[in-house]
Amino acid sequence: MNIHEYQGKEILSSFGVRIQRGTVARNAREAVDAAKELTEQTGTGWHVIKAQVHAGGRGKGGGVKLAKNLKEVEEIAGEIIGMNLVTPQTSAEGKKVHQVLVAEDVYYPGDSEPDEFYMSVLLNRSTGRNMIMYSTEGGMDIETVAEETPHLIFTEDIDPATGLLGFQARRIAFNLGLSGQAFKEMVKFVLSLYKAFEKSDSSLFEINPVLKTSDDKILAVDAKVTLDDNALFRHKDYAEMRDIREENPTEVEAKEVGLNYVDLDGNVGCMVNGAGLAMATMDLIKMAGGEPANFLDVGGTADAKRVEEAFRLILKDDKVEAILVNIFGGIVRCDRVAQGIVDAYKNMGDAINVPIIVRLQGTNAEKAKELIDNSGLKVFSAVEFKEAADKVQEVLS
Ligand code: GDP
Ligand code: MN
Repeated sequence: MNIHEYQGKEILSSFGVRIQRGTVARNAREAVDAAKELTEQTGTGWHVIKAQVHAGGRGKGGGVKLAKNLKEVEEIAGEIIGMNLVTPQTSAEGKKVHQVLVAEDVYYPGDSEPDEFYMSVLLNRSTGRNMIMYSTEGGMDIETVAEETPHLIFTEDIDPATGLLGFQARRIAFNLGLSGQAFKEMVKFVLSLYKAFEKSDSSLFEINPVLKTSDDKILAVDAKVTLDDNALFRHKDYAEMRDIREENPTEVEAKEVGLNYVDLDGNVGCMVNGAGLAMATMDLIKMAGGEPANFLDVGGTADAKRVEEAFRLILKDDKVEAILVNIFGGIVRCDRVAQGIVDAYKNMGDAINVPIIVRLQGTNAEKAKELIDNSGLKVFSAVEFKEAADKVQEVLS
């Protein structure tokens, strides 16, 4: 589960990680109040107003702006809240901004070159260990750094049994070119950051930038935090951080009815049982000249009710020009699935306005094909993979 920057910072701070302080605001009035309160705590009258959406690259899209006084706080917050923020990580329509983080300005005026670092904590799947990835090149796209100057990206593998050890934290501070007080601060920062990652059951922390101020403080200016859904049962307070407005509505609906659905950009809807077969089906669609509109695993029980729910979800996407149903009848018998499709189709009537290609393989496949062929519905049946692909190509052309 992804959360907002301000929520991620709350989690970091609760484990002693130093952060750029701030308060979330839902309108310009609240933003001004937040700024006043921050000034009392920090003494600085400058603030940065940051759009809170689940997407990075906000700075580039005009979602992060500096306000030098309360009037500017009010103006900028009013401007950003309600806007559709388009960043390199959103779709072309962008994301609607519902709230902003009003944060202290931590880039001291007159500080000609503040040091910005990149740091992330994540699972290294090839070693089966956690890993800290870090770079001296903070504040910019890490993908660009990886491409242009890969030697400036460092990694530190961490044994989950021992956790991050002192010498590793010191190596990180050293590789970042720090010395003196800043070195000590970075060691503290990294140790607390790793502890936060572990204790919060997160699957990703990405802090870009980590800032070194001219008075040698190290702090998190940004925080992208992904929590592990499977651990949310033991973090009730984190589970409440979910912001459903940030999620794809069809995916939310699918989750509610227990279907595993991921929205994609193509024109062929797929309904498949089993994640592996779903991946293979997407390849099949591509080979036939189409693009998958979604990933959908209907799971083990493909009865009429479930098939109907799946059809309804797929058809919400008006880019869909055809639906390919690819079911392997192992535990579930093909003829039962076929009956489910026929019943769902009859139930939905005009709601189904695109051709459907059904490929059923496994137990009672022939009987299933017969059922579909004799139903009188506009459904094409296939037994072989290739046959199904050819049919998809035919209906698309
Ligand atoms: P992102 O663009 O979504 O990654 O958002 P960030 O939180 O990383 O902010 C984008 C950029 O805004 C940072 O790289 C900084 O250069 C700048 N920024 C963030 N906080 C401050 C601040 O307190 N003062 C100033 N002057 N700039 C800031
Ligand atoms: Mn950032």
